[in-house]
Amino acid sequence: MCCAIPAYAAEAAPAWEGILTAEGASRFVVANGAEGEPGTFKDRYLLRRNPYAVLEGLLIATQVIGAERAYLGLKEAFHRERESLSHALAEFRSLTELADKIEVVLGSDEYLLGEEKALLEVIEGGLPLPRVLPPYMHGLFAGSYGGAETNPTVVNNVETLAFVPGIVRNGASWFRSLGSEDTPGTMIFTVCGDVRRPMVEELPLGLTLRELIYDVAGGPKRGQKLKAIFPGLANGVLTPDGLDARLGFDSMRSAGASLGSAGFIVYDDSACMVQVAYLFSRFLHVESCNQCPPCKLYSGQITEALERLLAGIGSHDDIEQIQDAAATVEDGQRCYLPTSERSAVTSIMAAFIEDFGHHIAPGHCELNHNIELPKIVDYSEVDGFTFDPLYSRKQPDWTYALAAV
Ligand code: SF4
Repeated sequence: MCCAIPAYAAEAAPAWEGILTAEGASRFVVANGAEGEPGTFKDRYLLRRNPYAVLEGLLIATQVIGAERAYLGLKEAFHRERESLSHALAEFRSLTELADKIEVVLGSDEYLLGEEKALLEVIEGGLPLPRVLPPYMHGLFAGSYGGAETNPTVVNNVETLAFVPGIVRNGASWFRSLGSEDTPGTMIFTVCGDVRRPMVEELPLGLTLRELIYDVAGGPKRGQKLKAIFPGLANGVLTPDGLDARLGFDSMRSAGASLGSAGFIVYDDSACMVQVAYLFSRFLHVESCNQCPPCKLYSGQITEALERLLAGIGSHDDIEQIQDAAATVEDGQRCYLPTSERSAVTSIMAAFIEDFGHHIAPGHCELNHNIELPKIVDYSEVDGFTFDPLYSRKQPDWTYALAAV
C-alpha cells in the first residue's frame, strides 16, 4: 500500500476542501504510516529522519479542515519510527496545545493495515478489515460519535503530509519548480533486488527509470542483464523496453505503467519469473482478509497452480487455471488487493511466458529460484535491506506456522 490502494482510487477523491465544506459533520484527519508494500520503504525512511515534517503537516491539515482529532496509524513493529515520532510529538506538545489533538495508533503487521478503510477500522478498535465506503462517505466513528453523521475523514499518506509545511512556507510555485511538469515535487524512491546499490533516497520527479536504476542504484550486478522491474505489486511488470519512461504520474501512465509508491523491485536475467509470480501471489493470498470470497479463493487457486508449476508437476491446465482465476479474482472487491494479484501475475505471464514453459512437466528450469519476498523490515545505508525472515511461515489465516525442527 503506499500500501494496498483502495479500489475507488481512480475516482477523484475529494481533497481537503471537499471535507472542509461537508455540512454538519465531525471531521477527522488520519496520517497513514502503516507501510507494507513489498519493495517500499519510503514512509519509514521519512518517519525515522523527519517526523517533524509529518506532524507539522498533520497539524496544518487538522487546523485547515477543523478536525476534532488527528490520528497517525503505524505498525506496532515499527520500533524506530515509534521512537522518533514519540520524541517529536513530545516536543510539539511542549510548544502547542494543538498537538494534544494528535494520537498515534498502533496496529498489527498485516498488509491491509495500510489500506485506508481498514486503518479507520483499527483506529476505532477493530481489525484491519477494509470497510465498504471510502473515508469521505464513512469516516471515523460515524454513527456513534456524531449520531447519523458521515464524519468525513481525510486520510493522507505521511509523505504527502510532510510536503505541506514546505508548500505553506514557500508557496505552490516553489513546489512546482521541483520535479517535472506533470508531477511536481520530490518522492522518496526505494530500489531493491538485483542492483549493485539497493537504496532509499529522496529525488526530484522527472528523472527516467533508466537513470534511477542505473545511475542511482548502480544497475544489475556484473555479468547480469536487467530482466524485470516492478513498481510495486499493483502496477504490473516493466521490462527493459520501458527504461526511458520518466518518473511522474502521467508519464508513467503513458508508458503503460504506474509510479505507485516509488518503490521498485528489480530482477536480473538469472531470476525465474515463475518463482517471482509465486512469491507475489502467495503474499497477496495470505494477506487477503476473506471478506470478499473471490479474492481469497481465486488468489489461492493462482498460488496453488504456481506451486504445482514450481514443483515440476504443472501442466498447461495450470496456466489456464491461473488465467481464469485472474479474470474473476476482483469480483465484488472492497479494496485493491485482488487487482494487484491479477495485475502482477498476468503481466508476468504475458512478459515471461518462456519461463512458464520451462516449468511444464517434465520441464527443466535452470534459472535462480532462491529468491526472497522483498517484504522490507529494515534498511540502513551500510547494510542495505533486511527482508522479513519469518514471512514464509505466515499462513492465509494470518497465523504463523511453527518452524520445522
Ligand atoms: S477480501 Fe480481498 S478485496 Fe475484499 S476486503 Fe479483503 S483483501 Fe480487500
